[in-house]
Amino acid sequence: MKKLLFITVLLIGPFALSQKNYWQQHVDYKMVIDVDVEKHTYIGTQRLVFTNNSPDKLDRVFYHLYFNAFKPGTDLEQNSRYSTDDSRTMSNKILMLDEKDWGDVQIKSLKQDGVNVKFKVEETILEVELDKPLGSGASTVLEMEFFVQTPAMIRRSGKNSEDNVAFSMSQWYPKLCQYDDEGWHANPYIGREFYGIWGDFDVTINIDKNYTVAGSGYLQNPELVGHGYAPLKKGVKHGDKISWRFIAPNVHDFSWAADPNFTHDYIDIDGGPRMHFFYKADSKYVNLWKEFQPNSAEFLKFFSNTIGKYPYKQYSVIMAGDGGMEYAMCTFIDGVGHPTMRSLYSVTSHEIAHTWFQFLMATNESKHSWMDEGFTSYIDDVALNVVLKEGKSLPNAKAYSDYFRWVATGLEEPMTTHADRFKYNTGYGMSAYDKGSIFLSQLQYVIGKDNFDKTLKKYFDDWAFKHPKPNDFIRSAENVSGLELDWYLLDWAQSTMTIDYSVNSLYGVDNKTKVVLKRIGQMGMPIDLRVELISGEILDFNIPMTKMRGHKPTEKSTLLRSWSWAKPYYELWIDVDSKNISKIIIDPKNEMADINRDNNHLVL
Ligand SMILES: [Zn+2]
Repeated sequence: MKKLLFITVLLIGPFALSQKNYWQQHVDYKMVIDVDVEKHTYIGTQRLVFTNNSPDKLDRVFYHLYFNAFKPGTDLEQNSRYSTDDSRTMSNKILMLDEKDWGDVQIKSLKQDGVNVKFKVEETILEVELDKPLGSGASTVLEMEFFVQTPAMIRRSGKNSEDNVAFSMSQWYPKLCQYDDEGWHANPYIGREFYGIWGDFDVTINIDKNYTVAGSGYLQNPELVGHGYAPLKKGVKHGDKISWRFIAPNVHDFSWAADPNFTHDYIDIDGGPRMHFFYKADSKYVNLWKEFQPNSAEFLKFFSNTIGKYPYKQYSVIMAGDGGMEYAMCTFIDGVGHPTMRSLYSVTSHEIAHTWFQFLMATNESKHSWMDEGFTSYIDDVALNVVLKEGKSLPNAKAYSDYFRWVATGLEEPMTTHADRFKYNTGYGMSAYDKGSIFLSQLQYVIGKDNFDKTLKKYFDDWAFKHPKPNDFIRSAENVSGLELDWYLLDWAQSTMTIDYSVNSLYGVDNKTKVVLKRIGQMGMPIDLRVELISGEILDFNIPMTKMRGHKPTEKSTLLRSWSWAKPYYELWIDVDSKNISKIIIDPKNEMADINRDNNHLVL
């Protein structure tokens, strides 16, 4: 059924050339778990239908067992312990734990199409030797029984968060590793990014009757559950436990949280979705969590309108986890880390924006963390600016200053670095969040605002529910703008080249003025140039870069001949007496990440 649907979409969709040979794997999970709320453990069964849409025959498969990371001596703990900068927190926390607070995932049995198969566990990765190799286009059923001990809250998930939420359950189940055109992505977990396979999830959680469960997926039995989802059906009496059944269609992950003290509100957005809010009734931030709800709905509406319509019927903001983290149809946000309304808005805007970057446009966030964190940071800053009416001319200006500071240390690593492999924690943050955010605002400078707005929508149309790569995004931008943009992706994302242009000199000759600009940095860019006259008049010019083979729309500025990146100098003549000029400025809106802005202007 799923596969047929997929083929139909491929046949009718208007796709970019890069999608011609595109394929992606498919998984359907059915899981039932039985939770012991005293011990924070559960036993579970998982029935996974895996469809191999790749052209390759697979003789083994891999799963992530994320919770196994949370004990002494693991990759996660050691990587944190011996980190080059100040990020030893995870190791310190793990080393303090009692054994009952470690994470533990044990595979009790594993069958392929009813036959027991050989498997081995290496910390966070389970390797399975298939009984029968899985051919291209074939499906197989993998069934397992497992036991899990929920770790203390070390990173993102676990028991008894700082807000005292009993269960913050992300990456809580054996999760099939991604296999794409680059092969398997069986990366050991060191506490950073994820990459999953699209499919349907059917999850039943049997848990103490006093607990409210929130999470991905639509609750299938609200009238049997009650707990604010629906009035309890007449005559239903709960035993010690309630079975909560959720179905999440077309997602690549499933998360849930549970607590005996969750309070539950919702808002219906016109045209959908219903937004749910779950938070601790006894939290000291309960008022903030009430007040922030209407603007949270505005953030979601903004992203829906700006990028592409939110495709599910519900979205839940859940007080759980640590910091903020995005999941399928929901987010976990902690209360204690966001004690002010502004900080709560900021994290909510960010996490909801992640529904688009990386949930719907499901990039490999480990490899391309900037398309995930960077794109999200950019659009969440824009949403904050619009929804909270902040009136900033460059909403992500802080990303620029952070980037400039890091470049000055000389420690920058390229954005292509795998998220797990950055030498410095700050380097990862700067690259993924700041430089990734600038990638978009600066692209807007290169191709113009209208083209940029259309690019976001085109990217959504081309790549929602798939796994785009950096080149796919740039192809969407090229298709919309008609410009060549490969150089932008190469120089900005795959190198540590920097941008630095200067107004080099100015000569008055007769009634005219000759201006010489200089490229000092290695990376070439098109130039917006502004000439301010003493009279107050403003003259705007645009100098495309030759390699773009075109220019952005230039309604209000004068288009000049292009400038090739290879030539360090560029001369232009202005029909104005130099005596009448007060100032010449490169990039007057500061959209270009020019590392030395002092030489961008000449004041006369
Ligand atoms: Zn993020």
